[in-house]
Amino acid sequence: MAATQPRNVLVTGGNRGIGLAIARALVDAGDTVLITHRSGEPPEGLRGVRCEVTDSASVDAAFTEAEEIFGGPVQVLVANAGITRDTLILRMSDDDFDAVIDTNLTGAFRCVRRAAMGMVRQRYGRIVLISSVVGLLGSPGQTNYAASKSGLIGLARSITREVGGRGITANVVAPGYIDTEMTAVLPDEQKKAYLDTIPARRFATPEEVAGVVRFVASDDAAYISGAVIPVDGGLGMGH
Ligand code: NDP
Repeated sequence: MAATQPRNVLVTGGNRGIGLAIARALVDAGDTVLITHRSGEPPEGLRGVRCEVTDSASVDAAFTEAEEIFGGPVQVLVANAGITRDTLILRMSDDDFDAVIDTNLTGAFRCVRRAAMGMVRQRYGRIVLISSVVGLLGSPGQTNYAASKSGLIGLARSITREVGGRGITANVVAPGYIDTEMTAVLPDEQKKAYLDTIPARRFATPEEVAGVVRFVASDDAAYISGAVIPVDGGLGMGH
């Protein structure tokens, strides 16, 4: 099912990194885009609504504000907000585990649940969940992060089964290593070790992830749902 452009797009955590690149790519595609941010002002040229994805009331308020600005429901949701809190399992506290699940997985669920109302009514929707190659391959020191990111796959596939008949698709985009603030903090020797395992022998730019999200959210991808699309330079290799 198609929607006329501009569509109403909400990108969580769109104030920086991959989310910002996605927001800009969808603006370029002709959509009306709002980003969510927690503090400060939205980046130049973009409008934002405040949203803390760990808080259902904040998510609800952000969607209500977005709907007022759009004059209609959110038609494309990109659930991108995410955090890491890496440490080996023997040292991982309940709080380290819970915080990452609450932001990355439950946060995406809260946004999808709120977005689904309007999408079901409109019989149109594009839901894109930003996962990670780590959700498929696992990674030492990232049990919390990997669990949250693989959980997004079950979320997207169940959404597809629930509302796939109403013109709504739900897909997962799984980036590999992308040059953002999240990876800038990695020690140099760890970056080098990662580079050695990536067939492309480089990290990607946020724009390379954004282009794939733009496609998955487009009408050309209307028959793709419940899919996991890697953007990882070959690192996941079919997983
Ligand atoms: P950044 O750390 O650069 O940005 C994270 C974004 O998420 C920020 O906008 C941040 O907001 C927002 N955010 C974090 N917690 C919350 C919260 N509780 N409520 C609302 N917003 C929140 O990360 P990236 O751009 O690198 O990553 C974006 C997504 O891509 C994440 O889900 C990440 O897991 C995933 N990813 C990243 C990879 C990489 O190599 N960089 C690889 C694979 C996946 P604020 O500015 O307020 O902190």
